[in-house]
Amino acid sequence: MRAIEPADVLVRNARVHTVDASRPRADAVAINGERITWVGADDEAGAHVGGATEVIDAGGRTVLPGFIDSHNHVRLGSNPLEVDLKGARTLEELRARVRAHADAHPDDRWIEGTGWNYGAMPGSLPTWRDLDGLTGGRPAFLLSFDAHNAWMNREAMAAFAITRETDAVPFGRVQKDPEGEPTGFVTDFAVMGIGRAGQAALAGVMPGYARETQYERTLASLDMAAAFGITTIVEPQNSPDDLWIFERARREGRLRSRLVAAMYHPVGTTEAERREFEAARARLDDDHLRVGPIKLYIDDVVEPWTAAFSDPYANRPETRGELFWEPEAFADLLTDLERRGFACHIHSIGDRGIRTVLDAVEAARRANGPGDRRHTMIHVECPAPKDLPRFAELGVIAGMQPRHAGPDITESWRANVGPERESWAWPWRSLRDAGATLAFSSDWNVTEMDPMVGVYSALTRASLDGTGAWTTQQTVDLETAIAAYTMGGAIVCRAEGDRGSITPGKYADLVVLSDDLFALRNEPRTILDVRVERTIVGGRTI
Ligand SMILES: [Zn+2]
Repeated sequence: MRAIEPADVLVRNARVHTVDASRPRADAVAINGERITWVGADDEAGAHVGGATEVIDAGGRTVLPGFIDSHNHVRLGSNPLEVDLKGARTLEELRARVRAHADAHPDDRWIEGTGWNYGAMPGSLPTWRDLDGLTGGRPAFLLSFDAHNAWMNREAMAAFAITRETDAVPFGRVQKDPEGEPTGFVTDFAVMGIGRAGQAALAGVMPGYARETQYERTLASLDMAAAFGITTIVEPQNSPDDLWIFERARREGRLRSRLVAAMYHPVGTTEAERREFEAARARLDDDHLRVGPIKLYIDDVVEPWTAAFSDPYANRPETRGELFWEPEAFADLLTDLERRGFACHIHSIGDRGIRTVLDAVEAARRANGPGDRRHTMIHVECPAPKDLPRFAELGVIAGMQPRHAGPDITESWRANVGPERESWAWPWRSLRDAGATLAFSSDWNVTEMDPMVGVYSALTRASLDGTGAWTTQQTVDLETAIAAYTMGGAIVCRAEGDRGSITPGKYADLVVLSDDLFALRNEPRTILDVRVERTIVGGRTI
């Protein structure tokens, strides 16, 4: 008989869903060091137990590969100083929450907030007047739920020296009323405010962006990720100035999940900065902390009418949105980044934005020849049906966030896009059927970090309370949703040889769930109650 080396850790009595087509189901997993060494049936598991083996009896629970959250802004979320504005349905409710928070925190110098939804003010954008008198004279700075727009009061405008003369601040573009007065609304926060100059400007003024707070915020988000079973995080938007946060977290033992940090390349990025990205990639290049892809934006978002469509917005016929890059310039940039060996993660939302990116990938292929480039399109909210087959043809991964399609947060989206294009919305099933690789993610803190929210949303396209399901022809089955949250993310990270499934030889990155997901699939709302009971990264329970 062949001698079997005893496992360091043996997980047994489990319903193991492997995401490995060669053996989809098993009962037990043996781990030696960082790696999975055996996957099999429970009656053979005993042979892997030695004197020093830690045996984890899963009690019949589901075991999955660890979740790979391929778009999760861990640096942005978890600001302890913030008032949470998520779920407020009207301007009055928003005002009441801001006032209550200001009253409850008399010593805060700033009133910082996040999470307000455009649907609370249908057809219009808020102004400083809507916040006047709520904060006892203190500045208020409130980010929209998608972090694309900041809304501030008069005191905050003064703190940032915004006047009639100001067209832009380092974190966004200043909106003016017809008389030329600033309205208190600053657009382009995601492309400017989460950039290098924007973050520096905020850090100098607002407590929530100060260096130590920034570190604490990231740690809180990293702890959430571990609790939610996320074993690999892709942090989508960083500059070289931000990397100290992850390096310090690793040094202090707080970076328990693996992390891939994308470098943000906004319009205006210089050759010197591209060299910095290359240097950062060379310096941080291991399976626990890696600097990898380049983050680009082709367009903005639907709600403030800034995503790029071929045809005008349904309720604003004078605009169809803008591209951040001229198509040729974008194709040249992508071609150059490919030559430097970078995969790109490209924020793409309107059908014209999406088509421009596909055209650029095609142009880069003509210039550089075919190859395994691993570009990911992020969001893919409203592609034209005729472009869907191009994802598979060009090897572009569809990086999507199922929760973004929730009917409770898409009122403005649907009004702006209009009924004719509504059936194009977030077509994850059509993309899968057209052969595209799907990678699901949370986009925390735009939406909930919990992968169960994403899985539930992928299955239902309903609100979290179960109502309002729409475009249900685009739902997918549970196996597809799990694969998109595991193997899909591994493919994004070019790590499918090491992660994404429970397969001998791969890293032992896995999760034990509180319930059997497959038994709950016919009552999807119960999936929202499923918790991760144990997260294992590289064989260690974190
Ligand atoms: Zn994002």
